[in-house]
Amino acid sequence: MKCPKCEAENPEYAPHCQKCGCLIKESYPRANTLSIVGIVIGFIMPFVFLLALLPEIYLYTRPEQSVKKRGKKFIEVTLVLFVVMIIVWAFINKVI
Ligand SMILES: [Zn+2]
Repeated sequence: MKCPKCEAENPEYAPHCQKCGCLIKESYPRANTLSIVGIVIGFIMPFVFLLALLPEIYLYTRPEQSVKKRGKKFIEVTLVLFVVMIIVWAFINKVI
């Protein structure tokens, strides 16, 4: 990793330059934020969606027609959100 100020070579992920002491990390705030977002969406969201799907599937299996309809609607919305999340995640990974 190169220092943005004096261009001295520094070890990877060093927060400060070893030669001039200036902040190195601050020149990459966008990539860091995007990495965190990518990790959150990529690893946590599928579990959240799976947990959200369980009560919806339960609603869908109920014999009452109105409840069944509501469960189906919830499942569709969840699946659409899931697909959108995957697209956003793929896009973020491409940007990084
Ligand atoms: Zn420096």
